Amino acid sequence: MIKEKDIEELIEKLEAHHNIDKEELVTLLALEDPSMIYQAADRVRKKYVGDEVHLRGLIEFSNYCSNTCFYCGLRGPNRTIKRYRMEPEEILQCVKYGASVGLKTIVLQSGEDKYFKIITLCKIIEEIKKLDIAVTLSIGELSTKDYAELKKAGADRYLLRIETTNKELYQKLHPGMSYENRVRCLMDLRELGYEVGTGSLVGLPGQTLEMLAQDLIFFKKIDADMLGIGPFIPCENTPLEREKGGNVEIVLKMLALSRLILPDINIPATTALAVKDKAGYIKGLKCGANVIMPNIGIDEYKKLYKLYPGKVPDNPSEAVNNLENIKKLILSQNRTIGKDKGYRKKILN
Ligand code: SF4
Repeated sequence: MIKEKDIEELIEKLEAHHNIDKEELVTLLALEDPSMIYQAADRVRKKYVGDEVHLRGLIEFSNYCSNTCFYCGLRGPNRTIKRYRMEPEEILQCVKYGASVGLKTIVLQSGEDKYFKIITLCKIIEEIKKLDIAVTLSIGELSTKDYAELKKAGADRYLLRIETTNKELYQKLHPGMSYENRVRCLMDLRELGYEVGTGSLVGLPGQTLEMLAQDLIFFKKIDADMLGIGPFIPCENTPLEREKGGNVEIVLKMLALSRLILPDINIPATTALAVKDKAGYIKGLKCGANVIMPNIGIDEYKKLYKLYPGKVPDNPSEAVNNLENIKKLILSQNRTIGKDKGYRKKILN
């Protein structure tokens, strides 16, 4: 059994040098009392990215999806949900609202919906950029050419979670998709100059601590600029509806270790974490997170973006990712609200 002194040394080394091997990561992920990891991550967060929490205004503009990811309520074959697409004018109306309340980044998210032509998306991006707002896209796998056009139109960042770097598990949960293409997309985005966000879904059936450690090694290897890590929450009318959900403690360990290996990146306390655990945002902010993504979409659509249950209550002002609630929460934690676009300020090479 590994001694407490060895754990202390391992965390000290990680805090100072931000390097660790897979076996050591597994040891830390398995720790019964992870408080030392959390405290180290909090110190590193403060040292490298400060007390600011950046708000990224999320607009979920279409819940159509042609994919069939086993864990997701928006998967194409789920006929039980009502589908919607926002008009470009509606999207811009939400962006203007976001700008009026001081948001500096908008995240445009959708299922993989081929209805929106790249030229339409480019026009929307160009309009948003006129407001001096950073644009993050989270619209799935596209061709290199499409990514290039969206970048040319002004997109700054792209979120594409790998979900798991275990190829076998990835293939099992994503019928019709390919792990190689997922990685190709991330490499393209990096090459094209996007700030690249990826991340893991924690608690997938069959996922092990070794696989999660491998995810962290992958994030370090590709030098991810953003990492979104959340618990798997089983969703009704999906193949995984009866599975057990992800464990909050493991998510927090993953967040903290992400901060320790990539000290200067942007790490959200995810909505899924806050849905799974009422104190999820606060716990995330204390374990290395420096970003939250309030939903600034239109209420009638928010209810229909059912990635997993519990995300949107009947009264959207009670939603965990309601902007006003999030602002209060950040200030209650003696953290400040970021005023700039919150790009990664790369400190380490
Ligand atoms: S996870 Fe994304 S790509 Fe997969 S089914 Fe859901 S919306 Fe579609």
